[in-house]
Amino acid sequence: MDLKMFLVFTAFLLHTSLGLPIQEKCENSTTTTEPTEVTTQEDIYESPLPTETDVEEEVIFNKILKVNQDSSQYLQEGDIVPRRSRSAINCRHCNWPQSRDGIVRVPYVLDPTYEESHVKGIHDAMAEFEALTCINFVKRKTERDYLSIKSVDGCWSNYGRVGGGQTVSVMKGGCLWKGVIQHELEHALGFLHEHSRSDRDKHVKIMWEYISPPDRSDFKKFENSNNLGLPYDYSSIMHYGPYTFTNTTGKATIVPIPDGSVHIGQRQGLSNLDVAKINKLYNCSRCSTILDGTSGSLKSANYPRNYSDNTNCVWLIRTRSRKVSLYFQAFELQKTRGCQGDYVKIYDGSSKSSAVLMDKTCGSKIPNYIVASSNLMLVEFITDGAYTASGFQAIFAAVGNQRRSSIHN
Ligand SMILES: [Zn+2]
Repeated sequence: MDLKMFLVFTAFLLHTSLGLPIQEKCENSTTTTEPTEVTTQEDIYESPLPTETDVEEEVIFNKILKVNQDSSQYLQEGDIVPRRSRSAINCRHCNWPQSRDGIVRVPYVLDPTYEESHVKGIHDAMAEFEALTCINFVKRKTERDYLSIKSVDGCWSNYGRVGGGQTVSVMKGGCLWKGVIQHELEHALGFLHEHSRSDRDKHVKIMWEYISPPDRSDFKKFENSNNLGLPYDYSSIMHYGPYTFTNTTGKATIVPIPDGSVHIGQRQGLSNLDVAKINKLYNCSRCSTILDGTSGSLKSANYPRNYSDNTNCVWLIRTRSRKVSLYFQAFELQKTRGCQGDYVKIYDGSSKSSAVLMDKTCGSKIPNYIVASSNLMLVEFITDGAYTASGFQAIFAAVGNQRRSSIHN
């Protein structure tokens, strides 16, 4: 731990002594004359809502519920379109089919009324699935079953593949947050709310006294849920927040047990267990890790012993509110012409469609210090079937001014 902090500090020193630009770039300046207090990555995707300010701290599900209060759609658990038969909860036929190449292609069509920024927000939310799992959302050609992503009235979805065109409502002016889009897409992939799991009573206590009778069905437990042999996840993007559906201000409806202070609900996006569950349900052979926090480290498998052949690993680094910086401490990869064999490649964002920060790199020269333009960076490590080496070790840290304090005008 001490060593890690020292190295992070060294990275900081290196950063400042080299005089690299660390000041905030105003990538998404608006023309408003009012100073904008808060600009988060997510704001970029939202339609202009001048009254909406500091919602970054809000659990994703609460954003969904707030919008759905005005929805005329009949919804269960706040955002799920009911099926005629609830027996599908552990369904075998509601998964999307997997192609021979291992990719699960989920066709979709987008509401033509979405503006360019909305489309970009939806694509970015989808691209994270593609980077971390074997789910690919693809534009529909002639496929029979597909998602019809529309701005209807609220943020809601069916559970699993229904057959034919199924609506995923991602309403403009409320639902176009990355986490909200991902939550609804996860329902469409066949995932329930996390606290609906059959084993939830071992992990959370439902405080029925603070839930009004009409809302109690939203806390139903599914005895035959498919838990995929993976642990209960307090930080799932599919988890309600602690105060969801409370009828008494300040009283939680879901309390983690035995430690009530455990943080529940997700503010940032998919969790590591969300990703693991998708990869398990869909038999994806991916090795994906999300790294949250202000600093940390990553290394190739087995480091400093040799890495394995034929691996395909990604790390999504997601710091909060600042830019991600990455500093390689060690680097030793098979050297090939054009690094077509084993390589590390780094993207300026959360998907492989993001701009490239460091193109395919191999050999034994330690790469330069890298700073992303936002709080997201994707590191990809690919190895072929021949020759291995010790691999790499790197540390990341959030650097630069806090985005929150920047004033855009
Ligand atoms: Zn939901």
